[in-house]
Amino acid sequence: MSLLVVGSMAFDSIKSPFGEVERVIGGSATYFSLAASYLTPVRLVSVVGRDFPKETLAMLSARGIDLQGLKVAEGVTFHWKGYYEYDLNVAHTVKTDLNVFENFAPVLPASYRESRYVFLGNIDPKLQLDILAQVREPKIVALDTMNFWIGKSPQLLREVIRSVDIVVINEAEVRELTGEFNLVKAARKLMRMGPGRVVIKRGEYGVLHLSDGEIFAAPAYPLETIFDPTGAGDSFAGGFMGYLASRDGAPLTEMDYRLATIYGSAIASFTVEAFSTERLQGLSREEIDSRLAAFRALTEFRV
Ligand code: AMP
Repeated sequence: MSLLVVGSMAFDSIKSPFGEVERVIGGSATYFSLAASYLTPVRLVSVVGRDFPKETLAMLSARGIDLQGLKVAEGVTFHWKGYYEYDLNVAHTVKTDLNVFENFAPVLPASYRESRYVFLGNIDPKLQLDILAQVREPKIVALDTMNFWIGKSPQLLREVIRSVDIVVINEAEVRELTGEFNLVKAARKLMRMGPGRVVIKRGEYGVLHLSDGEIFAAPAYPLETIFDPTGAGDSFAGGFMGYLASRDGAPLTEMDYRLATIYGSAIASFTVEAFSTERLQGLSREEIDSRLAAFRALTEFRV
């Protein structure tokens, strides 16, 4: 069943303790759609400028990502510049140039309107609302956001949060959004705003997944080589939503949500092994399956 994503497509300039890259491919929708493409067909809604490489678009298409909803506009592609210190869980933004996103008014292709699974990736909440209004009868809508939008558009963000089923969010951002330091309390507060589930991304400490009466904790895979955490959150969301969409037909159980969380964590663990989308572009089913098995071994114990 098709999964619709709206989010940024970007050039990223990133410095981490392990290296520095200029204007590499990034963006929330790029990471999300690549990660999800291993599990389900993806429909992408975004905008790039004429400076965005055609080869990257061809690579996304070749992975089965539908680009009918991608607009190539006059102007310059979104650019994010950031850095990480030794605490790779915290991304420091140096510059956010919205560029072609400033005037982007997405119109969904007719074929996208029936999408049952929707991911409102990290982007202007106004665009998230625009997209939601154009999807006819979604089964599950999830949303991600970040401090930039919490600060810039708090009212619109609350409006969109009210209409979604799941919020997938970083731990620092859920604290900022709710004004609550304790993550369980913060998630409960967020759920009172509308969504039935909150998935808190905690970088190298894994993920905390909360719904009414349930808490599931997944570790992050303890890698020896990490180059760049950029995109880990979006790749997690892609694996998570990709798995849920792939299960369409059967009613989703709590175990499905748990397995979706592990799929997300497994696919995200590849993203951080290289800069940009390098590692995420050419995964094999065997690599994903063996990392799922490694996750199982990581937390298995008997009483
Ligand atoms: P994450 O998965 O959380 O590491 O997100 C990384 C991606 O978010 C980067 O590739 C950036 O291009 C993108 N990004 C950074 N700031 C923003 C923003 N304000 N709006 C949309 N996307 C952003």
